[in-house]
Amino acid sequence: MENTLKRRDFLKYSGCLLLSSMGMVGNINIARASSAKIVIVGGGFAGATCAHYLKKLDPSLSIVLIEPKSNYITCPYSNTVLANIKKMSHITHDYSLLKKFGIQVIHDTITDANLDKRTVQLASGDSLTYDKMVISPGISFRWKEIEGIDQSTTEKIPHAWQAGEQTKILNNQIGDMREGGTVIISTPREPYRAPPAPFERASLIAYRLKKSNPSAKVLVITSGTDHSEKLPLFKNAWKKHYGDIIEIIEGDDQGALAKVDVKGKAVSLKDGTVIKGDVLNVIPGQQAGLIAHKLNLVNESGWCPINIESFQSQKFKNVHIIGDACIAGDMPKTAHSANSQAKACAVAIISELNNLVMPETVYSSSIYSLITPKYAISSSALYRIKNKQLVKVSEGLSPIKASKKYRYKEARFYEGWYKSIVADMKMS
Ligand SMILES: Cc1cc2nc3c(=O)[nH]c(=O)nc-3n(C[C@H](O)[C@H](O)[C@H](O)COP(=O)(O)OP(=O)(O)OC[C@H]3O[C@@H](n4cnc5c(N)ncnc54)[C@H](O)[C@@H]3O)c2cc1C
Repeated sequence: MENTLKRRDFLKYSGCLLLSSMGMVGNINIARASSAKIVIVGGGFAGATCAHYLKKLDPSLSIVLIEPKSNYITCPYSNTVLANIKKMSHITHDYSLLKKFGIQVIHDTITDANLDKRTVQLASGDSLTYDKMVISPGISFRWKEIEGIDQSTTEKIPHAWQAGEQTKILNNQIGDMREGGTVIISTPREPYRAPPAPFERASLIAYRLKKSNPSAKVLVITSGTDHSEKLPLFKNAWKKHYGDIIEIIEGDDQGALAKVDVKGKAVSLKDGTVIKGDVLNVIPGQQAGLIAHKLNLVNESGWCPINIESFQSQKFKNVHIIGDACIAGDMPKTAHSANSQAKACAVAIISELNNLVMPETVYSSSIYSLITPKYAISSSALYRIKNKQLVKVSEGLSPIKASKKYRYKEARFYEGWYKSIVADMKMS
């Protein structure tokens, strides 16, 4: 019985994402799947969750997770570190639980692969073979879009859009800022990971400055087409909590910034206006992680096209792409989306290995944003496949008018959401 996955277990583990179990009757014999070896590239929200659920669905699968870092530092809640509300340790997690669960975690980087022969090369010089590969490398940056900045300037102009060292640098710069200084935050053009997060960042930096440097300012430069659905909620909250500490410039085109003067700490807008700041947090345009480019998994958009039912690459069989790197229809690039896709991908792989029809799936994403530690707003949505597209079928947004208690509750929900999404990665 060890190699036999019962239909009820399949449904239980696949949880709420399964709406029906088309084609699945009685016991599912997974003898074929048992010998399958699955290599997962990237141990973030997408990759670690997928590893966890694959093993949960079929404990006899051989799963290897390749991730260079021994600690995963989450972007969710990283803005609270910039506000001195939480410490780095709060957002730092290790892979010990995932290892105990039977996943082989190798701390290395995939440098290349032969997708026809199903082999991958690691930076250490080792190579691995696989039956199926899941690629979840997150994002990389489009450095050519804004003149003056690139990877070599990130110590002076941190983006902090990948949490870790970048978070620490930005945190220190805010702490060292002169009295009455200005922090400039600029948003990139869409699509980028966590669209409301720059506005949460502005809120929480203002929270810190209000106490430690009350004459300082936060200036947000955004295209104005970005996330307007949540922006009125932010603006409403800023008025209430931060008076004139936060200012916003909204351009009407995508990617309002043209140039950054790193030495002179100034940014130029596309219309030629030059604005000087003290701390510049320029968030660059984004694209799929570099390994996806190297393996030719991206299209002209810089992101990876997939068959939405299975998350299988449109370019290569036996390669699935999940998380920020993939093009997932209406879904935003969030940790919650990555989690939802990871589970669906695990079910799709198990279904394929066992000659089953992939059950119909519902996907979700919610994103909470803190304005203060006790005041949060949120947006959430559900997505389903219609005509081979992943489309939004319902959505919810915090009301513009709400009691203190309501906002406080949302802040508590955010904490609960964070604990459960980290637990779903099997991380401690
Ligand atoms: C400030 C901020 C706040 C956010 N807040 C929220 C929030 O509140 N809620 C929410 O839902 N989302 C939030 N997000 C978005 C969320 O962080 C991302 O959507 C999420 O991390 C995507 O997960 P992922 O697994 O696709 O990518 P990642 O989390 O980036 O993981 C990718 C992993 O792949 C590894 N990797 C890359 N290349 C290779 C390679 N060649 N070989 C091996 N490994 C490799 C990397 O080391 C990395 O660990 C926030 C983002 C930011 C920037």
